[in-house]
Amino acid sequence: MSPEGILRAMAPGAGLADFAVLFALVVVVIVAILLGTGLFFEVMNARHPERKVQKHRVNARKWQELAYAPGSILTLSLCFAGGLFAQWQGWTLTPLPLSWWSSPLLLGISVVLYDAWFYWVHRLLHWRPMFRFHALHHKSVAPTVWTNHHETIVEALLNQLFYFVIVFVLPIPWQMLVAQKIYDQISGMLGHAGYEHFASPMARWPWPLASTVFHDQHHGYFRFNFAHTFSFWDRVMGTLHPSYDATVASFESTASQTATKSGPT
Ligand SMILES: [Zn+2]
Ligand SMILES: [Zn+2]
Repeated sequence: MSPEGILRAMAPGAGLADFAVLFALVVVVIVAILLGTGLFFEVMNARHPERKVQKHRVNARKWQELAYAPGSILTLSLCFAGGLFAQWQGWTLTPLPLSWWSSPLLLGISVVLYDAWFYWVHRLLHWRPMFRFHALHHKSVAPTVWTNHHETIVEALLNQLFYFVIVFVLPIPWQMLVAQKIYDQISGMLGHAGYEHFASPMARWPWPLASTVFHDQHHGYFRFNFAHTFSFWDRVMGTLHPSYDATVASFESTASQTATKSGPT
């Protein structure tokens, strides 16, 4: 996995061996993010038990969940490395050059598009003929940070194909796609953390962001909150859990009480 191998993959005319180097690098980075984010939340959760979302449910399935992480990570890495490689080989739309305005704009567009992709793929996975591919992920009624990769390969493929397809429809520079993937990995684990550490008015009406409570309620109640980063699609389609906004607000007071208790006296 030498730097020259990556440089060769970035140049037109690269071969399968160069793609393999890129794929291996993506796997290593994804695993590093998984471990770093997972350990961060394990420490945070232990320090703040009062922030647990489903207070009376216990999840001791960490190792059963992690057993599915290799298949999930290999699948998503294949899709992501495939997107980068296709762009580097000139098979896709020509990406716009990096600039202070177009790059963040394209990143924002891509995040919004992925949220729509995720919502509709997720609705599809809840359709009875498709649910067998998604049932595994729902075995954890109270998710933990490790639940993010507790999924079948079909589910991982349907979600992560976005990163292969997007380079054919949006001229997004690969650096922005890397930033989005890092955000996606961390926010996916945050959504499963089981503890609401970042409750904020920005995560409830009229703001569009979704917090940990959002996806936690999806696992707890099953028929609500199908989106990922934003609550937009669930609000529009009538699938938002009725207590979502109020539950986020209740955790804001928990967070401020904790801050007061642990603050200077
Ligand atoms: Zn689901
Ligand atoms: Zn989930």
